[in-house]
Order: sequence, then structure tokens, then C-alpha cells
Amino acid sequence: MRNLLMILVALGLGTKRHWHIFIAIFLGVLLGTWFPFNPDHPSFMHTAFEVVGQIFIRLVAMLAIPLIISSLMIGVNSLGDGRQLGKMGFKTIFYFFLTMFIAACVAALIAFLVDPGAHIPKGIEIATGIAPLQVEGPGHIASFRDLFLNLIPQNPFESLAKRDLVPVIVFTLLFGAASTFIGETARPFIAFFEAVFAMTMRIVDWVMIFAVPGVFALTFTAFSHGGTEIFPKLMPYIGAVLLALCVQIGLVYPLMLSLLARVNFLDLYRAISEAILVAFGTASSSATLPVTLACVERRAGISNRIASFVLPAGVSMNMNGTTMFEVIAVMFLAQMYGLPLSLSTIFSIIILSIIASIGAAGVPAAGMITMSLILNGIGIFRPEQVVAGLSLLWAVDRLLDMCRTIVNVMDDCVVAAIIAADEGELNRDLLAGGDQWEEVV
Ligand code: ASP
Repeated sequence: MRNLLMILVALGLGTKRHWHIFIAIFLGVLLGTWFPFNPDHPSFMHTAFEVVGQIFIRLVAMLAIPLIISSLMIGVNSLGDGRQLGKMGFKTIFYFFLTMFIAACVAALIAFLVDPGAHIPKGIEIATGIAPLQVEGPGHIASFRDLFLNLIPQNPFESLAKRDLVPVIVFTLLFGAASTFIGETARPFIAFFEAVFAMTMRIVDWVMIFAVPGVFALTFTAFSHGGTEIFPKLMPYIGAVLLALCVQIGLVYPLMLSLLARVNFLDLYRAISEAILVAFGTASSSATLPVTLACVERRAGISNRIASFVLPAGVSMNMNGTTMFEVIAVMFLAQMYGLPLSLSTIFSIIILSIIASIGAAGVPAAGMITMSLILNGIGIFRPEQVVAGLSLLWAVDRLLDMCRTIVNVMDDCVVAAIIAADEGELNRDLLAGGDQWEEVV
């Protein structure tokens, strides 16, 4: 045990940290499966690693708000002209919806073809007896009406304290936009946010020293809690979600990048590889944001103006992985209960999943929180089916959460690359020149 810890600490102090994170994830999967968690006798090792993982999540998550606000404020202010913000904002929203809609349709097609719910023996959801885990992030959304009204904060500081990022972003955008109209008077205010941004990025560098043990501990905890008995029975469902995510990464994004930005997807994926690994380890796209921003600006050659606008907005709004997961999970439960899935029901699932994923925060398990919005809203499930279905999904959520978070991070980078290419703000030499890249983690 002590040797293992020493190896992890040593790994954390080396260079080329992304490989070390990769090894940490591998060891976490291996040892987590090897030492399953026993809820009746939780061992010291399980508790210790859970605490280490939580410390890491908290350290990175605490940086999200100062980073989002300062980078958005600087980004909007640097636009200089209010009309340009409108044009870029429109393009960003357009690509967010386009990628989410494609993601939802791909997921629906895969759930239809694979039919994962058909393989579940009746009553499995009762047999597992799995209680929903403790949920992080904001509570669930009451209605679609509230979802739209919540875009406008009544009290921005209250939204800030509740980590309700979408209204905070709306408020920050308005403030940033106002600063572009008052010129020199706003200068001290912007200088303050420039300082906040620089200092937060410095803290990110410090916190990342802890990334290797942190990611190891999180993966270990996820796999030791993995519910090994029901794992094989849920394989078709897990497989369908993973397949959908792979199609998005391996087919949809490469096509979009090549057609809309003339970018080789392998260059972009290589540039953001650290962000992908941190996303997998933390299952939080907003906690990954500092690393994503660093990768995109320092390696992918995307200008700060585009990156600091698209990425923070995308973390809260654009979640292709969550959309795909929600479509498949709802169709899986309908198939399992033998409920009819007409074309119009599937279309409602697609639309509801897009709205629910926009409402999900970039934190672990957020997609599961908004899932109840769809299950209740679609009108085909009885209340007890909703409860039992959610319990079943919770059993294997962490692994799927880690995987869908990768796509949630990648989609923002893809949209940022397309917009940067369109605006002539993509440094193609830097993107293709892997040997000049700086270490970001
Ligand atoms: N964990 C995901 C993210 O942070 C959200 C989700 O639960 O789907 O992007």
C-alpha cells in the first residue's frame, strides 16, 4: 500500500503528466475492480482514496467560477464592438444546437438498432436494490418554463452562490458587453478581471501537481463501487451509450472539422489530450475547463477571444455526451418496460434530452439529475417505473459519466475550432506542430 502511494506521488512530480494520468486511470480501474467496496465494512483504503479524490475535485472545481467569469469578461471586452459579439454569439449558439441535435439523432438511432432494454430480465431493477447515490450540483429543474425563466438571474450573487452557471453567464455577458460601450471608464474594472484570470491560472498550475493521485483515487473509487454483479446484465445498455459516444468522436466531429474548418481531427484531439484525460478522471467538464482552455489556446492555436467565449458558454450549455446518454437511457428504460416507442415519442425524447442537457451543470452526475425531467415529462412511464428505472441507471452511472464528460469537453473544442477557422483566428501552424507545444498539465 505504502509503495503504491509512493509510486503515485512520484508519478505526480514528473513531467509529461498526461501519460502519468493515463497510468493512474489504468491502475485505478485495475485496483478498484480488484478491491470491491463493501458497504457493511468500508475499509480505510476505500475511505482514504475517496477523500483524496474529493479533495482533487474540490480543488479544481473551486477554480471554475473565478475562471469562467474572468475569462468571459476579458473575452467579451476584447471584442471591442458590440455588433461582433452578436455575430459570434449567434454562430456559437447555432453550432451548439447543431451538434446537440446530431448527437441526439445518432443516439436515438443506436438505441433503436441495439435495443438494449430487450436483454434485461424482468424485475432486475428491484433485485439490485440499489439506492440512488448522493447527488452533486443543483437540484432538479421543475419545468421547462422555469428552465427558460432561470436564464435571467433575479439576483446574480445568489445564482453565483448556488453555482447556477447559466444565469451567471448571461449576467457576465451583459456586464462585459456594457464595458465595450463605455471605453476608458471600464478599464480598471477589466484590469481587475485580467489579474483574477492570471492568478487563477497560476493556481491551476499548482493544483495540477495533484492531478495524478487525484485522478487515480477517483477512478479507484468509481470502480470499487461499480456494482460488479449487475454489470454484465447492463452491458448492452452500457455498450449502446459507449458506441454512440464513439460515433460522435470518430465520425461526426472528424466530418464537421474537415468540412467546416479544414482541420485534421487527429491534430485537434492530440492538442486537447490532457483535457480529455482530466475529463475522464474527474467526470466534470466545468472542473476540466482550466485544462481545456490551456490546451485550446496554447496548443490548438485557437485565439483567446474565441476560446474564452465559446468554452465557458459550452461548459454550461453544450453537452453532446449528456444528450446522447439521456436519449439512450430513456429509450432503454422504455424498451425494458415494453412501452411503445413511436416516432413522435422518440422525437419528444430527442427534444427533451437536448433541453435537459442544456440545464445540466458540468459536474459529476448532473445528467442523472436532469434525467428525471425527461422521464416525468415524456408521459409514458408510471411513477414507480421512474423511481426503479433511475435506481438501475445510478448503478452504472459513474463509468458512463466519465465517458460522456469526454464528449462534453470535446464538443466545445470542436465548435471553438470551427468558429476560429471561420473568423480567421486559428493558428494552423501551431495546431499541426506538436513538437512546439507547451506542457499544459
Ligand atoms: N458529468 C458531466 C459533465 O460534467 C455532466 C453529466 O453528468 O452528464 O460534463
